[in-house]
Amino acid sequence: MQALVKTEAGPGLRLETVPDPQIGINDVLIRVHKTGICGTDLHIESWDPWAAKTIKPPLIVGHEFVGHIVEVGSNVSDFHPGDLVSGEGHVTCGRCRHCMAGQRHLCPNTLGLGVGRDGAFAEYVALPMTNIWHHWPGVDEEVAAIFDPFGNAVHTALAFEVHGEDVLISGAGPIGLMAIAVVRHAGARFVVVSEPHAFRRALAARMGATRVVDPTGQDLKDVQLQLGMVEGFDVALEMSGTAAALRGAIANMAHGGRIAVLGIPTGEISLDVNTIVFNQLTLRGIYGRQMYETWYQMAVLVSAGIDIKPVITHRFPYSEFEAAFAAARSGDSGKVIMNWSE
Ligand code: NAD
Ligand code: ZN
Repeated sequence: MQALVKTEAGPGLRLETVPDPQIGINDVLIRVHKTGICGTDLHIESWDPWAAKTIKPPLIVGHEFVGHIVEVGSNVSDFHPGDLVSGEGHVTCGRCRHCMAGQRHLCPNTLGLGVGRDGAFAEYVALPMTNIWHHWPGVDEEVAAIFDPFGNAVHTALAFEVHGEDVLISGAGPIGLMAIAVVRHAGARFVVVSEPHAFRRALAARMGATRVVDPTGQDLKDVQLQLGMVEGFDVALEMSGTAAALRGAIANMAHGGRIAVLGIPTGEISLDVNTIVFNQLTLRGIYGRQMYETWYQMAVLVSAGIDIKPVITHRFPYSEFEAAFAAARSGDSGKVIMNWSE
C-alpha cells in the first residue's frame, strides 16, 4: 500500500510503498478514505524537539481518519466489513486501574496512533476493535474524518457547565473553531474568541463567536466593558498553547471561574498563582477524548444539526501531501483534508 512515512530522524516525510498492515484476532483492518492533518503531524514532519524525543522511525504518521472496514479478526463480532468507521487514536493498555474502571482516557500507558504505532496516512490502517467508532447513518464523510479533533473540542467545551455563561476561547485553530459551535449549542451567552490570525478570526465569526479579538491589539478588559460584562468570564477554553493566552484568561476570569486547558505549550509557563488562589479559579487539563462518552456526544451533536464543516478549508489528494502540509502550516487555513481514495 501507499503510506506517508517518517523514514528517519530528521525533517520531512516520504510517500512509500509499504506492506499492508497485518491484523491480530482482536483487530480491525480499515481502507482509509479521508484523513485530517493535525498539529502533531506538523511537529513530526518538521522534526521539532518534541518529535525528536518521542518518535521512533520508521513510522507511518497520521491519526485523524475515516474509512470502511475490509477485514476483522476472528474475535471481532461487533464490527463488519463495509462499516464506515473512525478510530480513537489513543490505544490504551486495558489493564491499569483507570482502564479497569472504564476511565480509559486516564490510562498512563496510552500509545498514540501515528505517534507510538503506525498511523492512518496510508491506504490501510489496523486498530484494536476497542478503538473503533462505527459512525451513525447519514454522517458527512469529511466531518467523520475529523471526529478525533472534534472530540478534543467537545471534551474541552463540555468540561464545565456553559449554559448561560460567558465563555472565552483563546486560539481559533481547527479545535477552537469547532469549540465555538459546541458552546453555542450548549447555551453559552457570550462567546469571545481571541486569535491573532485574521483568516481564523473571520472563520471564528462564521462559527458563531459573539466577538472576535486580536490579542496583539485589543484588550480583553475593553471587550468585557463593550459587552456589558461586569465580573469576568465564567469559563475559558485555552486552545492556543501559548503563555500569553493562558495568562490573559487567568487575568480575565470571574471569581470561581473555570479554565479548561487543551493547548500544548512548547515549554514551562509561569503563572500568577495569587490570582488563581484569591479568585478561586479552577484549571483543568484536557487530553484526548473520553472513551466513548465524547464520541457519543459528537454523534448526537452532529445529528442535532451542529455544522463543523466550515472549519474544513482545504482538500488535497494524498499524492500532494507537501502542498497539504504547507496549507496546514500557514495560518490561512482551518482543517486540511487529504483524500486516500482513487
Ligand atoms: P492550532 O495550532 O491550529 O491553533 C492554535 C491557534 O492559537 C492558532 O490559530 C494561533 O494563531 C492561535 N494563537 C497563537 N497565539 C495566540 C494568543 N496569544 N492568543 C490567542 N490565540 C493564539 O491548533 P489546533 O489543532 O486547533 O489545536 C489547538 C491546541 O490544542 C494546540 O496547542 C494543540 O497542540 C493542542 N492539542 C491538544 C490536544 C490534547 O489532547 N490536549 C489534542 C490536540 C491538540
Ligand atoms: Zn490503561
